[in-house]
Amino acid sequence: MEKETLSPPLRRLRKLRERMAREKIEALLVGSLPNVHYLTGFSGTAGVLLVTLRNSVFFTDARYDLRAHQEVQGSRVVIAKGGNFQAALRWAARTKQARMGFESDSVSFSSYQNILQTIVNKRLVPTTGMVESLRIQKDEAEIERIRKAVHLGSKAYSETLAHLRPGMTEIEVAAEIEYRMRRNGAERPAFETIVAAGPRTALPHSSPGTRKLRRNECIMLDLGAILGGYAGDMTRTVFLDQAPRKAARIYGAVLEAQREAEQAVRVGVPCSAVDKAARRVLERHGYGRYFTHSTGHGVGREIHEQPSLARNQEALLPENAVVTVEPGVYIPGYGGVRIEDVVVVRKRGPEVLTTTPKELTVL
Ligand code: ZN
Ligand code: ZN
Repeated sequence: MEKETLSPPLRRLRKLRERMAREKIEALLVGSLPNVHYLTGFSGTAGVLLVTLRNSVFFTDARYDLRAHQEVQGSRVVIAKGGNFQAALRWAARTKQARMGFESDSVSFSSYQNILQTIVNKRLVPTTGMVESLRIQKDEAEIERIRKAVHLGSKAYSETLAHLRPGMTEIEVAAEIEYRMRRNGAERPAFETIVAAGPRTALPHSSPGTRKLRRNECIMLDLGAILGGYAGDMTRTVFLDQAPRKAARIYGAVLEAQREAEQAVRVGVPCSAVDKAARRVLERHGYGRYFTHSTGHGVGREIHEQPSLARNQEALLPENAVVTVEPGVYIPGYGGVRIEDVVVVRKRGPEVLTTTPKELTVL
């Protein structure tokens, strides 16, 4: 019973402490902001957390005094003077824990020098992915937030489709999408919206430019909204007037690969198996070498988080992980097609959160 009554930050801190104890880390300095948000409930943009096996102290500056006291659960709030990181280090130096971990991926070289100068009485242990690995398995409240973010993206997408006309630039289309996200309540876009037209769709991550939309060519839209601190992510490729036969053939292959890979998203399956499912279909259609990225990624507080659905990733998918499935084919000089949904790993099979139709769409 106790488990249900704990607030999410307290539950997460408890899990983190179990991990710390296993790895004999007595104190952990958490500097990565998405990790800090996850462990405290704080939503501001500056803060550092020091977690020991018994206590947890959150350091932020005076701008966030009120917000921190309202939002933070499970940690003592300290309003720092002269830098949050420095304050956390000074605090840590006074504790008696002998082994202190720090997140090596989020500490700059100068911060590291700071650590060395301030923490002289402890064994320092660089860590990677300790909190990130806890974040892979979402709780139901997190999944609901992602579902809402995904729906909001879908809404902005379908509203924008009604406005697509030949002659609009990629930038104008991206502006429509982002405007509609905000109008529908998004906190912000989760990443720079990708709109690409014609041969530019052969670049998997092109930035919107002044290229104008034309009839009978691929138009790729990749977008995501942040809502309640969680991200959505979707890609659709559409056509104005007509889809050329070559593009329609590519589309059919990518759609088949996307569906196959989505069906492979199951509890206990290696991440690489989902990637393989997509790759196998595209290879069968002769497009294997044009699929140049991995099949998907975790999504949550960050747009790209663990796990990675890539070739060499043998980690097993746990229940309630949330991942994208986004195979694509990119033919240099011609164009590309990508279809991307967000999927929850469930015991009963994949639960696709994205409700936008993905059949070939000609406007
Ligand atoms: Zn995307
Ligand atoms: Zn993605």
